[in-house]
Amino acid sequence: MSNQEIVIVGSGPAGYTAAVYAARAGLAPVVVAGSVSAGGALMTTTEVENFPGFTAGIQGPELMEAMRGQAERFGARIVLDDALRLNLDGPIKTIETGSGEIFHTPAVILAMGSAYRRLGLPEEERLSGHGLSWCATCDGFFFRKKEIAVIGGGDSAMEEALFLTRFASKVTIVHRRDEFRASRIMAERALSDRRIEVAWNSEVAEVIGDPQVEGLRLRDVVSGAERVLPVAGAFVAIGHDPRSELLVGQIDLDPNGYVRVAHPGTETNLPGVFAAGDLVDHRYRQAITAAGTGCAAALDAQQFLAAAP
Ligand code: FAD
Repeated sequence: MSNQEIVIVGSGPAGYTAAVYAARAGLAPVVVAGSVSAGGALMTTTEVENFPGFTAGIQGPELMEAMRGQAERFGARIVLDDALRLNLDGPIKTIETGSGEIFHTPAVILAMGSAYRRLGLPEEERLSGHGLSWCATCDGFFFRKKEIAVIGGGDSAMEEALFLTRFASKVTIVHRRDEFRASRIMAERALSDRRIEVAWNSEVAEVIGDPQVEGLRLRDVVSGAERVLPVAGAFVAIGHDPRSELLVGQIDLDPNGYVRVAHPGTETNLPGVFAAGDLVDHRYRQAITAAGTGCAAALDAQQFLAAAP
């Protein structure tokens, strides 16, 4: 059991940036970083070309290691364990980790991110960052003049497909049903774009390619017939879920499970509890925006601690 001035849960760009700021403010933060997924979503990707400051781009894991090192340099302690139980009520909060370590603290920054929904295929992890992507804004640029696919049928799939027509020569939307779930306006926009085609009633049975995506094996959900769609890349847009399981019943969440904060600040409804990154933001979902709100959360927490009696 140990008493801390501040504990940060999560070690993506939001958590590590909060740690850099809190550490430089002399708060000696503890970062409960997660066990297997420490470093966050960028640990699962290759080239990151849109994080400012890296002219030639940087590998995702390298960027996260650099953020971790920067936080440690100023005195942050990184605990490679999961937070299993949080008690966020009252002036002193407790965070219990998987190995049974318990932290008591007046200030907590929640930065557990969100998880993109996966297809559930065995080759998914191997091909992530090698033609299989969850973020058109991040990776669309790599597919100039190539044929690609977008998997999904909601608004975000339409948005991704339309955005990707700026780069790709052809975009095929692969959808399980015979109509889109997306709003009519978004669906119409996608359907009227001549660079977009739709594979209706189709599910992805396999992502083909080694080491790089070369196609999708599609199964017709009505007839069971299979065919190969040759593509250089595939974007999965079947939704994402905030990692807020531990917070249910303790803190204000929106209907989709994202933590509500007092925009533009990072305060939650519980005094001393702040939230940042993709755990809050379902709109931008970028490393730089997560880092930005991580910074804001550390500054808000700092001010909260300074004002505490
Ligand atoms: P995350 O990075 O998701 O980090 C959350 C952290 O919380 C993780 O460390 C996890 O271990 C931890 N955690 C969760 N639950 C617990 C718990 N109970 N206890 C302890 N720790 C916990 N964005 C870009 O700007 N450019 C890109 O090129 C880019 N490429 C991407 C490629 C891929 C494949 C993916 C999936 C995303 C990409 N993104 C990119 C988006 C970007 O990674 C996210 O927007 C960003 O990482 C969000 O940061 P975050 O700190 O909020 O959360």
